[in-house]
Amino acid sequence: NGLHHDENLKEFRLEADQELRFEVEANERVQLELRSGLAEMFGTELMKGKRYSFDGGAKVGIFTWHGCNIDLYGDTEVAYVAKETPMNFYINIHACLENMRDKSATEDIRGPSVMVCGPTDVGKTTLCRILLNYAVRRGRNPMYVDFDVGQGNIGIPGTVGCTVIERPADVEEGFSQAAPFVLHFGSITPSSNLSLYNKLITRLAQVVSIKNEADSKVKHSGAVINTCGWVTGGGYKSLLHAAKEFEVDVILVLDQERLYNELARDLPSFIKIIFTPKSGGVVVRSPEFRREARSARIREYFYGASIKSSAGATQFYPHSFEIPFSQLKVYKIGAPSIPDSCLPLGMKADDNQTKLVPLMPSLTLLHHILSVSFSTTPADAIENNVQGFVCVTAIDTERQMATVLSPQPRPLPQGAIFLLSDVQFMDAH
Ligand code: ADP
Ligand code: MG
Repeated sequence: NGLHHDENLKEFRLEADQELRFEVEANERVQLELRSGLAEMFGTELMKGKRYSFDGGAKVGIFTWHGCNIDLYGDTEVAYVAKETPMNFYINIHACLENMRDKSATEDIRGPSVMVCGPTDVGKTTLCRILLNYAVRRGRNPMYVDFDVGQGNIGIPGTVGCTVIERPADVEEGFSQAAPFVLHFGSITPSSNLSLYNKLITRLAQVVSIKNEADSKVKHSGAVINTCGWVTGGGYKSLLHAAKEFEVDVILVLDQERLYNELARDLPSFIKIIFTPKSGGVVVRSPEFRREARSARIREYFYGASIKSSAGATQFYPHSFEIPFSQLKVYKIGAPSIPDSCLPLGMKADDNQTKLVPLMPSLTLLHHILSVSFSTTPADAIENNVQGFVCVTAIDTERQMATVLSPQPRPLPQGAIFLLSDVQFMDAH
């Protein structure tokens, strides 16, 4: 790389409290190097002299508390230095949370449970990342809970989950996830099955409190809860539901005053609700961009993250194998809804929404994601951790065989049941 050293090189000088923002054009790659000073990306400190790579679609903000020099190589869609950022506000929130964590350790109670909400594209996920990074840099082990079924970072699209954060997010690849707890939802919009969605929120809250009981460090570090951008109607109700189930202490409402006022009206006053400014750097993502981000996330699951890292890195290949229909126990969550008047006495339509319905393997499974449950019976499958995912790539009705893509070689665990997702994946390889 010494040969083309100054090809497309842009040098930036940032004063204290400034932020370099850039977007990488589709199919391009931009490299970044911190030349001097200190800087961080969404709360992760950059190493001086290291080249970081960002691929097409990346939207990046590099902030400095002290001033720095940064070099960028490659084509950026935009690249500018911003003088106005909400980082001082964010670090003050972090300082308050740290006080609550110290206090929780002294009193041996649970640390702060913080929920971040707001409409789409206001920087919720980024703020969660910043707060988690700052916490872990202070030696905490916070829980990260994410129930954004569309753009979530735990599991793959169509799932919700939680995980303990033990080290700062990798600049290029985000948080590493040793053993996340993942639940199957099966769609990228909560509205497609709200009663299931709320049930999963309840279950995640339960999992967090079990984890807190088992690990006092996690307990005193508290939890950061990321939500999805649907903040009206049923989406708003599920935020209230989550606030109750997670017994949240603090709610950060990004950008939207109406949501802030509604939450302040509907929630008890011991919950601190903080109207939080959005960063001018947050970029609105088009539906196509979101769709592409979802496929990229699934592709990363099957092929490994390193497929997009610098050339020469190990590339993983998923395995492909056949499963006889007789071993493919597929269920769908939610039976077609029937009006309450047609249901047996005492049964609610809601119960129907969280019922497991067995499916005969057929062509309708083609290209769909199936969650592989740890359960072997449908009874507890909704609340049980998902151990992985496969994608159905072929159905042979004659031979009664399904071909699946899987990151693990066969065989799949004996008797595990599969949960059908609406989410589809087309393997472009
Ligand atoms: P939300 O979770 O509310 O939908 P995100 O946190 O995912 O929003 O932010 C939307 C996009 O904006 C993401 O691609 C993110 O990388 C980008 N972004 C957020 N903050 C900044 C910033 N300060 N500078 C540049 N890009 C940013
Ligand atoms: Mg988000």
